[in-house]
Amino acid sequence: MKTSELLLNHANLIVVSANKNGHIKYVSAAAKKISGYKTENLKDDLWWENTYSSKKEGLNFKKNVIQVLTNKASINQKPYERKLHCKDGNYKWIEWRDSLGVNNNYVSVGVDISDWKRKEESRIQSDAILKNIPSMVLVSSKKGEVIFASPSAEKILGFTFEEIKGENWWKKTFLSKNKAEDTKEAILNHVFNNEKTYIDIFKQKIKTKNGIDTWIEWQYSKGANNSFISIGTDITNRIITDIELKKAKEAAEESVQVKNDFLANMSHEIRTPLNAVIGFTDLLLETKLTQEQREHLETMQNSGEILLTLINNVLDLSKLESNKFEIENIPFNLNRTLNEVVKLMKVKAEEKEIFLNLNISPNVPEEVVSDSNRISQILLNLIGNAIKFTDKGSVIVTLNKIEENEKASIISFEIKDTGIGIVSNKINSVFGAFTQAKSDTSRIYGGTGLGLAIVKKLITLLNGQIKVESVFGKGSTFTMILPLQKGSKTETKEVEREIDTKNQTLGYSILLVEDNKTNQLLAKTRLERWGCTVDIANNGFEGVKKTQQQLYDIIMMDIQMPVMDGYEATKIIKNDISAEVSKTPIIAMTAFTSKTEINRALDAGMDDYIFKPFKPDELFKILKKHGDKPKIDKELINTETAMEVVKNNKYINLDFLKKETLNESTVMVLLVELFFKDLKEYLQILEVKVKEKDWESLYKATHKIKPSISMFGIAKLEPVIYTLEKIFKEESNLEDIDSLVRKCKTIIVNVKRELKVELKSLKE
Ligand code: ADP
Repeated sequence: MKTSELLLNHANLIVVSANKNGHIKYVSAAAKKISGYKTENLKDDLWWENTYSSKKEGLNFKKNVIQVLTNKASINQKPYERKLHCKDGNYKWIEWRDSLGVNNNYVSVGVDISDWKRKEESRIQSDAILKNIPSMVLVSSKKGEVIFASPSAEKILGFTFEEIKGENWWKKTFLSKNKAEDTKEAILNHVFNNEKTYIDIFKQKIKTKNGIDTWIEWQYSKGANNSFISIGTDITNRIITDIELKKAKEAAEESVQVKNDFLANMSHEIRTPLNAVIGFTDLLLETKLTQEQREHLETMQNSGEILLTLINNVLDLSKLESNKFEIENIPFNLNRTLNEVVKLMKVKAEEKEIFLNLNISPNVPEEVVSDSNRISQILLNLIGNAIKFTDKGSVIVTLNKIEENEKASIISFEIKDTGIGIVSNKINSVFGAFTQAKSDTSRIYGGTGLGLAIVKKLITLLNGQIKVESVFGKGSTFTMILPLQKGSKTETKEVEREIDTKNQTLGYSILLVEDNKTNQLLAKTRLERWGCTVDIANNGFEGVKKTQQQLYDIIMMDIQMPVMDGYEATKIIKNDISAEVSKTPIIAMTAFTSKTEINRALDAGMDDYIFKPFKPDELFKILKKHGDKPKIDKELINTETAMEVVKNNKYINLDFLKKETLNESTVMVLLVELFFKDLKEYLQILEVKVKEKDWESLYKATHKIKPSISMFGIAKLEPVIYTLEKIFKEESNLEDIDSLVRKCKTIIVNVKRELKVELKSLKE
């Protein structure tokens, strides 16, 4: 092989030469190698036919060559690019240079530029991408100096590359120098050392050339030669939308909150007078009444209770709607709970002469964990409806286990009645708020259409489901499916006996801290019926003062009060007065039924709580629970305190009364006159009943007069009355009675004298 040919091969050059007829007579070895054809398939016309993109194109080129060789056309001196069609069907880019050889041959020399071309193409593509993608791409050095910025950077930020290259990026786009420094360090640490920092390098607020704040979301990766690439997308619009959405959400939440606060307050405001209506009706019902009066009062009592249920329902629904409802998970005995619910409902069923039955399948676990109060609430509602909408026949409650796994059982609770049923086109709407199946339902059966809406939401909260099937005129079946966690044995709660609170005596001294006058009167009357003495404080501050003067058996404390609220007063009474006083049980009286409020009350040191309006038996039970705890000998303390109060020789001290009545002379006159009457009555009882040795009546009368003695500040009489009360109650030390009664009468005579003077000046 000639040296030149060796060289050609080594240089990987394609060399072909054509004679004047356009036939290829020479093909270098590299042409073979690059195209993949054998030499014989590249010679003569086969070159033109095989290596061009089409035979036609090849033969056209051949024609051109012949024209050059016959001097009919001039040769193209410039290099040009043409694809070489290879044997495997692919193309390779070749840069050609054509010239005329020594024997008047046409010589084409080609260099394979495919690799370069490929790179070039990908470069063109990258450029196009960089130019067209909305994100900006920065390449920075290991020190963070910007060495490349894609055109989008200018579009987004308004800075040309020249303006932000090097350190300028950090100086110009950041809001402060410190922020720039910290961010740069954090990014370098992230890219090169994989370290995390507290700075959010993936989302940054930077500024444009016009000074507009712009949010950029960044992605980082390592680049070539120790550089790193940052791809930044403008997310300002997204952030603004997010902020607006967040604001809208907050506004919506706020309006729900406002609605809830409104409902909570309104329910409180309504409950307070309702408390009085129901309470006084209860009190009146305990007195002697004609049949007609009794009936009217019972209707009143009933209406009051319906109103209360409605308020509770509205409040429950609003809490459920704003996800403020708290669900408990506490072990309880399902059997017992069901029996209690059915027992409660039996009374109603019996009134309507409907058969109410409970079937619990033996496969239903007895001990479960869930919210027993809520389950009772749901069942009371469903069974209540079933009884309400059934005029004859039965209501059957059936419990079955449908499924079970290690932790939980799925129980179905079916409430089937033979009542009026629901028309098929209304069956889906009964769970909506304020919806009733028929427009005359409310008129005939009462109700508001809230019960099932609450039931449905409660069941959803308990992860259960409810469905209803009904045949109009024949009856309905409500089925609730509830998952209940398995529980271990719970202690059997002693079933509380119903107490007839009418003729009970408690005889406690009670401090009633309550700002509402109606509630004061209601509670006082109720408590006095049970033989309790009641001191009233109008707010927490007065309450605290009273506990400094006297030791009580029980303090009943309202929570929301002017001047000082119940929490504050409790804290002081429990911590700052004396060891004895701190032991006095404090019972919170609250109209709010929120757990937070109860917890707050208990945290403040209250011993128990009762919801207003309270039912007489609830109040009785709670008082008995706390009042019967052993106490220290308060009698002694009371007597001593009373003695201290005597400041001068006067028998009465009307300071307290004046303050209580805000110095209102008409009220004072009224009270003094009433007291006159009471004193007269009491003297008569003393006269008659001592002779009859009717200690009980004497005890009651003494007990009744006691609070007024304190109210009129008759300090001298207080120890006498206390002792008498004790003697009459315990029927001990009876021999002291005569002298005490005498003392009592003497004091009362003096009191009356002084009161007459006071009365006269009051009337003037
Ligand atoms: P309310 O009982 O206060 O009207 P609910 O939400 O408890 O409200 O019930 C909505 C409506 O569904 C009722 O008014 C009644 O039309 C229908 N409904 C509920 N339970 C029954 C039932 N057991 N039988 C027939 N109709 C029922």
